[in-house]
Amino acid sequence: MRMYDLIYAKKSGQALGSEAISWWIKGVTSGSIPDEQSTALLMAICWQGMNTEETLALTLAMRDSGHRMDLSAVPGIKIDKHSTGGVGDKTTMILGPIVACCGKDYGLSCAMFSGRGLGHTGGTVDKLASIPGFRVELSETDFLGCLKQIGFANSAQTLDICPADRKLYALRDISATVESIPLITASIMSKKLAGGADALVLDVKCGTGAFMKNQPDAQTLADSLVDVGKANGMKIKALITPMNEPLGWAIGNALEVMEAVEILKDQHSDSDLTKLSFRLAAEMLVLGGATRDMDSANKLVLNSIKSGYAFETFQKFTAFCGGDPKALEDFSKLPQAPEKLIVNSEQTGTIKSIDSRELGVFAMNLGAGRKKLSDILDPAAGIRVHIKVGDSVKIGQPLFTFYCRDKSEIIANDVIKCVKFVE
Ligand code: URA
Repeated sequence: MRMYDLIYAKKSGQALGSEAISWWIKGVTSGSIPDEQSTALLMAICWQGMNTEETLALTLAMRDSGHRMDLSAVPGIKIDKHSTGGVGDKTTMILGPIVACCGKDYGLSCAMFSGRGLGHTGGTVDKLASIPGFRVELSETDFLGCLKQIGFANSAQTLDICPADRKLYALRDISATVESIPLITASIMSKKLAGGADALVLDVKCGTGAFMKNQPDAQTLADSLVDVGKANGMKIKALITPMNEPLGWAIGNALEVMEAVEILKDQHSDSDLTKLSFRLAAEMLVLGGATRDMDSANKLVLNSIKSGYAFETFQKFTAFCGGDPKALEDFSKLPQAPEKLIVNSEQTGTIKSIDSRELGVFAMNLGAGRKKLSDILDPAAGIRVHIKVGDSVKIGQPLFTFYCRDKSEIIANDVIKCVKFVE
């Protein structure tokens, strides 16, 4: 086989056979195919697309490029959740403990492998790593032990899971080929299938801060992800949820832990983040067979919060991973930023939009996120968002508080441009 022929075929709009796709991915993994040829094929896929069979073949080849987790030592159904990425999305830290305590009596546990944040979106692993002592990389034995004992395990994806995805993602990132439905599908589903869960709830984000900017594109991505999951015997459901403003009030790692804890302690019953986390948890309980319908699932979810059991489960999970559970009771034990800057509104009016992508980039520049994977994070850095779309604000009212090392780097005029008012 010649890489040139694969590139030429895809450039001309032909479908690639599964053998050709598998040969390409083996070559990507071994390093025998030059990056420029893989990048050319990625660009051709971006323009010409892939049919369902090709997308499935690419997913399986990427899944098989590395290690696959075997969760069968833990009895019952193991369920996972994946979000296609958003700003302020800390649902995993909330729904993981909820599903663990609600699913325990029904043989359902929550097994998740999470990524690190890149660009304007954050990653669960970085958020958990801001808890003093927390080990985000669990060995396979510890992962299974945590799942058995707590009912919820979350670990950083190890380097031996889907190495082909890591290489291809790096090429996509620098060649403007991330936003392709078959490539996103194969990237996400190869990792989810390698993670070994039996069931998966997907949160496909749609809006200005998401890969998918409109409902039809989000629906196409959701269908593509579900098709691949079903073809592999997974129980799978996709929700499409808005990403037009940051979720909740916190952007930045330690701040997001604080917000997740507040929700587990029943302090924000009406927030967009609470509603989304509870909905995802309830969907996971239904898909995982713990309850028959959303009504009973919603009751279980609420009960786990009101009883304090979900928070206790998060504390136990933290302790299992070596983290200090007292930091979840006393936020002064979490990393603290030396400086704070409040940016106030320069006008009175109703908020029409908040540019979550831009705010994510501001947070990244403060050290809350990475421009490249080797960047070192500042766990205390981030932004408190005081407003929501639709709020009425008065001149001088706080819009954002920035937590940082050096506030002279923040230009309030640039920040204010993230907020648009109803004309
Ligand atoms: N998340 C992934 O893991 N891969 C993509 O391609 C996009 C989002």
